[in-house]
Amino acid sequence: MTVNVGIPRALLYYEYYPLWNAFFENLGAKVVLSEKTNKKIFDDGIKNTVDEACIPIKLFHGHVMNIKDEVDYLFIPRIKSIAKDEYICPKFCGLPEMIKHAIKDLPTIISTEINLFKSTKGIKKTVCEVGKYFSDDEKNILSAYERAYYKYRNDKKAMQNKRNTENNKKIMIMGHPYHLYDVYLNMNTLEKFEAKEVDVVTPEMIDIKTINEYAKKFEGNLYWTFARKLIGTTMYLVDRKNVDGIIYISTFGCGVDSVVGDLVEKYIRRKSNIPFMLLTLDEHSGEAGINTRIEAFMDMVKWRDKFENNIPAHG
Ligand code: SF4
Repeated sequence: MTVNVGIPRALLYYEYYPLWNAFFENLGAKVVLSEKTNKKIFDDGIKNTVDEACIPIKLFHGHVMNIKDEVDYLFIPRIKSIAKDEYICPKFCGLPEMIKHAIKDLPTIISTEINLFKSTKGIKKTVCEVGKYFSDDEKNILSAYERAYYKYRNDKKAMQNKRNTENNKKIMIMGHPYHLYDVYLNMNTLEKFEAKEVDVVTPEMIDIKTINEYAKKFEGNLYWTFARKLIGTTMYLVDRKNVDGIIYISTFGCGVDSVVGDLVEKYIRRKSNIPFMLLTLDEHSGEAGINTRIEAFMDMVKWRDKFENNIPAHG
């Protein structure tokens, strides 16, 4: 009988789904995804999470509720670190407990710890711990992971090779992947820009090695993985000056962005004249407000072309 494993379409689903999906399928399991974010998922998440949680964590709860009755297992790893010498936001670490305490009648949760802080070699042990729910054969588990990782890496490279139209304005839209790619949460911000014949680029389209090289030049210790990626991206953009504007999407209650968003904005304003806008979303954000800000931003970007000195609106 096929075993169903549920993956909530939230948080690091937007980064690792191709890897997790291929791994579980290689082990003979059927992956069940929650629906795309919708009003019910959003409302269920808000109702079932502590008030002080950030929006993406609330959304995660809503996605768990959406699939919990359809699956044998829920995959909610306890993620501490996904890169050597770096930590991830602490909310990922407590996620299995948050879910268990907030939501009743759950299936078995696979909450294996992912902690690559000391060495990325630890991934083998982690993979075997997850895989043992589906196979007794360690070789089979490791082979399933290697094939899945190969596919994941190729998918990533394909994204980096995406070419833009050279004549259009180019706008970088940056932020955590679940802010950028959950279209319900961000009210289709990326598509709204594309509809204005703008080429949208995201951090995922830049070679991660390049981002890391730039991040190393930052004065200060970047011990958060999200910070390294976003600050490295910013330094790359400011150095290359190959975008016409930068949008940073954040959500209300994000502790990481309260520091990183500020650092990014100050760095851009100090070192370049690239127009910058911070879009902070919360459960009350209205689409009309987002549309107005996008319109105004694009008007300003186009307006600058008319003036030789190309001075941004913020001075
Ligand atoms: S990084 Fe920010 S948005 Fe993401 S889980 Fe942590 S607090 Fe929430």
